Amino acid sequence: MSKTLKGIAASDGIAVAPAYLLVEPDLSFSKTSVSDVDAEVARFKKVVEESTKELEKVRDKAKESLGAEEAQVFDAHLLFLSDPEFTGAIETEIKDQKVNAEAALDETAQKFITIFEGMTDNAYMQERAADVRDVSKRIMAHLLGKKLPDPAAIDHEVVVVAYDLTPSDTAQLNKKYVKGFVTDIGGRTAHSAIMARSLEIPAVVGTESITKDVKDGDMLIADGLDGDAIVNPTDAQVEEYTKKGEAFAKQKEEWKKLKNEPSVTADNKKFIIAANIGTPNDMKGVKENGAEAIGLYRTEFLYMNSKDFPSEEAQFDAYKEVIKDMDGKQTIIRTCDIGGDKHLDYWDLPEEMNPFLGVRAIRLSMQYKDIFITQLRALLRASAYGPLGIMFPMIGTLAELREAKQILAEEKDKLVKEGVKVGDDLQVGMMIEVPAAAVLADQFAKEVDFFSIGTNDLIQYTMAADRGNDNVSYLYQPYNPSVLRLIKHTIDGAHENGIWCGMCGEAAGDDIMFPILLSMGLDEYSMSATSILRIRSLMKKINTEDIKELANKACFVSETADENKKLVEETMKKLNIND
Ligand code: PEP
Ligand code: MG
Repeated sequence: MSKTLKGIAASDGIAVAPAYLLVEPDLSFSKTSVSDVDAEVARFKKVVEESTKELEKVRDKAKESLGAEEAQVFDAHLLFLSDPEFTGAIETEIKDQKVNAEAALDETAQKFITIFEGMTDNAYMQERAADVRDVSKRIMAHLLGKKLPDPAAIDHEVVVVAYDLTPSDTAQLNKKYVKGFVTDIGGRTAHSAIMARSLEIPAVVGTESITKDVKDGDMLIADGLDGDAIVNPTDAQVEEYTKKGEAFAKQKEEWKKLKNEPSVTADNKKFIIAANIGTPNDMKGVKENGAEAIGLYRTEFLYMNSKDFPSEEAQFDAYKEVIKDMDGKQTIIRTCDIGGDKHLDYWDLPEEMNPFLGVRAIRLSMQYKDIFITQLRALLRASAYGPLGIMFPMIGTLAELREAKQILAEEKDKLVKEGVKVGDDLQVGMMIEVPAAAVLADQFAKEVDFFSIGTNDLIQYTMAADRGNDNVSYLYQPYNPSVLRLIKHTIDGAHENGIWCGMCGEAAGDDIMFPILLSMGLDEYSMSATSILRIRSLMKKINTEDIKELANKACFVSETADENKKLVEETMKKLNIND
């Protein structure tokens, strides 16, 4: 029977394919004593053989679909499976303790993990702890007769189903086969949703129960336009949604015609529509969608995609590649924003009660200055290759901003003294994503060249509603007058002090938000590359004279977010704008 689940539309498009459950099975076991230890050792050996065969298959498929580098991790796992020090220790444990293989595996794996994690002066060996964990999980699954999901080995079209997807899970999805994803939890501005948009994978998040409502292989529709997930659809539904997907694809073709057009309003006012990127790989989307700048390069993905902190040289290469590729158009690169929902496996930071309110972004950079300085040097060197903006994330106080700027100035001086070329077209800016900074926008504006409003965080901090928690998504209100007043105050503070103001939060690419922002006079709109042409098309239809009053009405007359949504919808209807 067909069942429709309501979630949050996280990435546009429609996917129709069998479900692939990316859900870890329950691997709990009971410790039992065994009398026939030889039989237990033989059972263990057989399972090691099965696990090896399975891993070899996974590795080969991963090599084909994701590339040799991504597949390397499986070689590391295979090494453990063939290492007599590891498997032999488990066999000895079975024999000596007369326990079942599950208990012997668990006991031995824990010992290995503790030893590896203790090697604090050897990052390479520390990383091996993760390999032991993964390999042990696989052996345990085989011992218990359960199946582990292997996303890297997907070789047919699927809609991935998961409780949640971390940004690194999302990075591993192979677009060729993963046609969409549906999750139990998450929000529209969680980083996995943002990545889905840049990968153009339709996504529905926050359905609460998809992992329970769908079985592996069940037919599943992910409607990323309206936020519906349909399990076991009827033939009529498959036809309906296939048509809906085709209509959306046709609309996208129409928008594509605007690729090389400037971003102008109906009354010929020019603005910048820029792209947000995570890695140099996203440049394809930047080009295909005619971005006029890069308004946000989230550098943390460079850190997340490497096995250890990326060196100054590796960072320099990545930044230079993007700056050169932009061919004279501005690139704004944000310093590392780790923390919140973005973690590094190799950076063992203390657990926090509230990671989004903890040591995140610039706060982390200030605690680990060496890492910050390495990045600043790479950025300064890359600035010689084109117009660059360096932007600091999560600034809350003037003291933080001044300290970051001071370190940047010192590093610039040092490089110049070393005879290294630094660009003269370098701007220094900050994100406005902490309400405290928005309130003091006039003061901050005197110290930077530009602002970029990070609404993804500004909304969550203003409304005290976690951006990734679907249970409070009703409070995560971009159109709330309180949020809009902070945005307007920021733009006014920037303009009164002679600097430009952009927005790189997802709200910049939102159809309802856009006319309000235009009415506020926002200068630059930076968004997932896939939203650019939709917004350019909308911009072309709006005459700024017609929406002059919109900002004030939205900030000071409306009392609720819903009223603002209606206000924009009615204004657009009156103006005959139907994008
Ligand atoms: C934001 O907060 O709006 C933003 C662009 O930064 P991020 O989404 O990476 O937190
Ligand atoms: Mg942010």
